[in-house]
Amino acid sequence: MAIKTALITGITGQDGSFLAELLLKKGYTVYGTSRNTSPKSCARIDHLKDQIQMVSADLLDQDSLVRALDQVKPDEIYNLAAHSFVPASWEQPVETGDFSALGVTRLLEAIRRVNRDIRFYQASSSEMFGKSHEYPQHEATALCPRSPYGVAKVYGHLITMNYRETHGLYACSGILFNHESERRGLEFLPRKVTHGAARIKLGLESELHLGSLDSRRDWGYARDYVEAMWLMLQQPEPDDFVIASGKTHSVQDLVKTAFNYLGLNWQNHVVIDPAFVRPPESHLLVGDASKARQRLGWTSKTSFSGLVTLMVDADLENLARQQQVPRE
Ligand code: NAP
Repeated sequence: MAIKTALITGITGQDGSFLAELLLKKGYTVYGTSRNTSPKSCARIDHLKDQIQMVSADLLDQDSLVRALDQVKPDEIYNLAAHSFVPASWEQPVETGDFSALGVTRLLEAIRRVNRDIRFYQASSSEMFGKSHEYPQHEATALCPRSPYGVAKVYGHLITMNYRETHGLYACSGILFNHESERRGLEFLPRKVTHGAARIKLGLESELHLGSLDSRRDWGYARDYVEAMWLMLQQPEPDDFVIASGKTHSVQDLVKTAFNYLGLNWQNHVVIDPAFVRPPESHLLVGDASKARQRLGWTSKTSFSGLVTLMVDADLENLARQQQVPRE
């Protein structure tokens, strides 16, 4: 089989790094784009730096995308780059739209101009459902976003669908529900909890300040979810798929699982702090991934407790290494 070439935007992110690993394992030649090549920004792909190639391309600059596609000649493009922290999109609503919405059109236009056979994956999000009154959400559920992030993702989702239908491109959207990992940014709640619990275990902290413990989310493991992205681009016909675990857990479940695993009583350490309560909370988001199960053969393999404990283990190990504290 001929070696395939993939281009990943946002390769330095959580999903980009796992996807790059998966594609390399499958024998792909992997290229990535990043706006920032500082060592800190590239930490998640540091172990891959001899196996992947970085290319200069900016989702705000149409010509740079055309040049990148001419140079790389990808068979597949995975568009993962975005401002991914939802609350921050309220601080940069215009940039969020320019980058995460119009950026998708620029990339699709570049494909249309350079090579219409390139297969395209767009990172859509459960945040597009926002204030949904339907539960669980599936591919045909009405979109009702509640943040500039969600609105930009809706635009990216619909323009992907439009280029598929109007220009006949092989373009797919994966509507991914929350997925976490040991590589998740510290600003995201699950990582804040596992990192905070590990710090408390090592005596580096005594308290963890959180907002509401009642919010519920559909959480899965990022390594499982990037496999769905790849599967979407291997089908006879392009389509959109919800990717989710189909189960929700509360923040309290998350906290309890992490602290219990470390032999700590969470009630002695967790402080409810109004400073961390965030309006507006999405309504209950839980995905129905039955289409992905039937058509792609995809399932969310890692359990909730498996996810939380692998994150705690990784945080404990990293912190212990940093502090040179031997693990018990
Ligand atoms: P992430 O870890 O935050 O990575 C985002 C990537 O986007 C980084 O490589 C970052 O690169 C790049 N990026 C951010 N802002 C940018 C900008 N203004 N210009 C250029 N590049 C920018 O996010 P992730 O969790 O891997 O998510 C990947 C994609 O899936 C995102 O589109 C996200 O919105 C979407 N998604 C994620 C989830 C989830 O639960 N993780 C769920 C649904 C959808 P640099 O900062 O290094 O340039």
